[in-house]
Amino acid sequence: MGFENFGTVSFTAEAKVADFITQLEAGKVMATRCRKCGGSYFPPKADCPKCLSSDVEWFEVKSQGKLLSYTVVNYGPSGFENDAPYILALVKFDEGIQILARLSRDIEEKDIKMGMNLTVNPAKLPDNRIAYEFRRA
Ligand SMILES: [Zn+2]
Repeated sequence: MGFENFGTVSFTAEAKVADFITQLEAGKVMATRCRKCGGSYFPPKADCPKCLSSDVEWFEVKSQGKLLSYTVVNYGPSGFENDAPYILALVKFDEGIQILARLSRDIEEKDIKMGMNLTVNPAKLPDNRIAYEFRRA
């Protein structure tokens, strides 16, 4: 399973990080950490952009993140036109990564607070596709 079932708009198949989708379908949101310099990456990277090492390990993002910023998207980009409005949020996790993703639709804008605790979770989309989203911790 590669990136062909990820999100609304297909990614080009990325063989080296295709495990990400397999794990997502198994209920886990995974990131990578460089064994050489300790850099952590999301989306996962098979090669470390800091030290160029390919010695990376996978880990699950399971901490409670804190909301850093968000925006209400009223006009979706190509592939997301019919989804708007939705809320795009930036969340910082203890694992040393920041993730940009949508907030679950069950969180309304009036209930959003900076620094609120959120978890990142796989989210099923129509047509058997899969992505990830933030939910209340
Ligand atoms: Zn590195």
